[in-house]
Amino acid sequence: MILLDGKKTSNDIKDEIAVKVQELKAAGKKTPHLAAVIVGNNGASLTYVNAKVKACERVGFDSTLIKLPETITEEELLSKIEELNKSTEVDGFIVQLPLPAHIDEHKVTLAISPYKDVDGFHPENLGRMVLDLPTFLPATPYGIVQLLDRYDIETSGKNCVVIGRSHIVGSPMSILMSRNNKVGNCTVTLTHSRTKNLKDITKEADIIIVALGKAEFLTADMVKDGVVVVDVGITRVDDPSKKSGFRLLGDVKFDEVAPKCSHITPVPGGVGPMTIASLMMNTLQAIENRN
Ligand code: NAP
Repeated sequence: MILLDGKKTSNDIKDEIAVKVQELKAAGKKTPHLAAVIVGNNGASLTYVNAKVKACERVGFDSTLIKLPETITEEELLSKIEELNKSTEVDGFIVQLPLPAHIDEHKVTLAISPYKDVDGFHPENLGRMVLDLPTFLPATPYGIVQLLDRYDIETSGKNCVVIGRSHIVGSPMSILMSRNNKVGNCTVTLTHSRTKNLKDITKEADIIIVALGKAEFLTADMVKDGVVVVDVGITRVDDPSKKSGFRLLGDVKFDEVAPKCSHITPVPGGVGPMTIASLMMNTLQAIENRN
């Protein structure tokens, strides 16, 4: 079994980006600038956003963290987004999800300029992805594609099962795995909560991408020997033995599934860091598009 080490791979990508940033700076060009908007005090969201800001520092990007109160109105948030759309300083920005219930996430996604949408959630960018046109790929699926690519996982002609059909992970992932690309050309089955006999489907899979948000859902009896497993899930479970008071679990029962795998991502240290690396890649792309 080979561990798909997202931490190491994301560090490799960040090192490559840092070199490009140095070249931009040496040529007197603008330093890439990523802004992140966070609304409220959700602990997990704050952790993700801080990790993104830290990654900016590491690659040499400028970054701005915009913390807004939970009570902000939808209108106020939309006007902040408009400001960022118009900013000549900011090349790309994200609005960390989830948002408080009184704010319509779709409205927010649509308000972000597709040219600065480095999370790749805007319908224009998703449409461009479907048509195989240059775009910002959604950060998590992009990170998974990068990871499979850099580990030279053969995907062509393989049977790929995606569990979960969210707009940010499962659905775009299923499209990317079926595209005619080096990582792609799979026969994809997209499964969800209404899928019947999931185990019969996953047992036929050469590659399984698990993104449903239920800790340790995928068990050894659901997979065949030699399978490649990508675990997207992150669930916090209480753990008084940890300083933080919690630990992270993936959607895969790692200890029993891993021995059957040819390759598997760990949680933490798998898909999570790759998502951040993709965000850095998209931000660099954003400034290259502007130039
Ligand atoms: P989500 O929006 O919560 O959607 C979950 C999906 O799983 C839905 O499509 C749902 O089906 C499906 N599902 C639920 N129960 C199922 C079952 N028993 N069998 C099959 N499918 C089932 O998911 P998400 O936002 O993609 O997040 C999924 C997980 O990934 C979460 O743990 C999240 O924290 C994590 N995540 C990690 C990263 C990262 O960078 N590592 C990034 C994003 C998300 P229905 O559509 O039928 O309801």
